[in-house]
Amino acid sequence: MPLGASLKSRACLKLSSQILRHTTREKLASRNFTSSAVRQKQRLLIVGSGWGGYGVLRKIDKKRWDVTIVSPNNYFNFTPLLASCAVGTLEFRCAIEPVRRYTPQVVAYQAWCDKIGKFSTENCSMRACLRLLLHSGKTSGPLADATTGTPFTLRWDKIVLAAGAYSQTFGVPGVKEHAHFLKDVKDARAIRVRILECFEQAMQPTLSDIDRRNLLNFCIVGGGPTGVEFASELHDLLHAEIAHHYPTLAKLAKITIYDVAPSILGSFDKTLVECAGKMFVKEQGEVPFGILVWSTGLAPNPLISSISEFKKDAKTNSVLTDEHLNLIRKDGTVDPDVWGIGDCAQIEDAILPATAQVANQKAQYLVKKLNKLAKDQDSPKPFKFENQGSLAYIGDWKAIYDNSGKEDKIISRESGRVAWLLWRSAYFTMTLSWR
Ligand SMILES: Cc1cc2nc3c(=O)[nH]c(=O)nc-3n(C[C@H](O)[C@H](O)[C@H](O)COP(=O)(O)OP(=O)(O)OC[C@H]3O[C@@H](n4cnc5c(N)ncnc54)[C@H](O)[C@@H]3O)c2cc1C
Repeated sequence: MPLGASLKSRACLKLSSQILRHTTREKLASRNFTSSAVRQKQRLLIVGSGWGGYGVLRKIDKKRWDVTIVSPNNYFNFTPLLASCAVGTLEFRCAIEPVRRYTPQVVAYQAWCDKIGKFSTENCSMRACLRLLLHSGKTSGPLADATTGTPFTLRWDKIVLAAGAYSQTFGVPGVKEHAHFLKDVKDARAIRVRILECFEQAMQPTLSDIDRRNLLNFCIVGGGPTGVEFASELHDLLHAEIAHHYPTLAKLAKITIYDVAPSILGSFDKTLVECAGKMFVKEQGEVPFGILVWSTGLAPNPLISSISEFKKDAKTNSVLTDEHLNLIRKDGTVDPDVWGIGDCAQIEDAILPATAQVANQKAQYLVKKLNKLAKDQDSPKPFKFENQGSLAYIGDWKAIYDNSGKEDKIISRESGRVAWLLWRSAYFTMTLSWR
């Protein structure tokens, strides 16, 4: 059916349901009942199924919004658990939640959003003049096989941009080809396969001990929380299962973290950094490796970079929002129908860290706002971030916890087993389902 025809028939359907609602409302009013009848639904488009997008998807009032979600992933990644999945402590399915849990109530497309541009047609208001050009099959991965790859467009009344960010490589040659990233459950799976591959190869009788050491040299570039947590999980793996199954090889294995900064976990309190630093070593020169995990922060998402109508943060190239999370146009006015949350957006003059904690809180705030909006209620309160502190696992059942910004807390800084308990329970409270 041509697009125009399908739109017309949908409009007709909406019209007839409106007439029905109207008649019912009149009847109810005559009997002095109050009616909470749902008005004509507006189209809400969510771009991305990560901490931001999935957070909105979960709680948005699907009876009042006509929701569509677009993401190349038909699942949500519980990123804090990816390091554990990569070393086999947790099963991959523990770290994902399916988007289709919410269908058919919402429409979900596994696709990339390539462009958010402007166009005009006779009947469109300025708002409807924005369109999305999406195509699936941009990557050469399974997505390309799963879909036709034919571009299509979507219309919307309100849009939530939650496309996240990409991994930063600083243009270092060879990184994309030879390093592993850790952003998705697919990455965790590839890392797990490669770790075991390294040990199996090192078992071959034809190899010298030097070759074995090179193969069992596990390198991590980036001493932030992700790199350190992965190194710590790997350390535990080497000292437990690997030591058991490959006793001679485990002694040859080595984990090294590389960072341009003088210490790892730079965002944490100094005393905690020293405590974590004792667990790791540094090295210089040319280094052969069996596996290289690259985790040096975030690069802008190309979709966000392609947007030119809105203000951007000079450093991160994220879109800038006001404190209600609406995007700010270049002329300084706010777009009431476009929101930005998660790693792809920042509040102007109130930059927050790119974390799940921030993305999740923004998503919860936006859900409340949108649900009120659907009932024609106002929600004038601006977004306020509640810092719950930072946690990082440093191996051997130890973690560090830093909430030193809030000295009024019972625990503002902690390291070791108590911090480990906090670390595990924090993830437990963040879990989205029994999975
Ligand atoms: C290994 C790891 C561990 C972490 N641990 C922690 C932690 O312990 N605590 C913490 O607070 N933070 C942690 N973080 C950071 C946290 O995961 C991010 O800040 C958070 O994921 C940001 O949420 P988001 O929704 O903006 O982006 P993401 O969660 O990255 O989601 C972006 C979504 O957009 C989709 N997308 C991308 N491009 C397009 C496009 N063109 N069209 C449509 N969809 C698109 C993606 O497929 C994805 O579904 C961790 C990150 C990693 C990688």
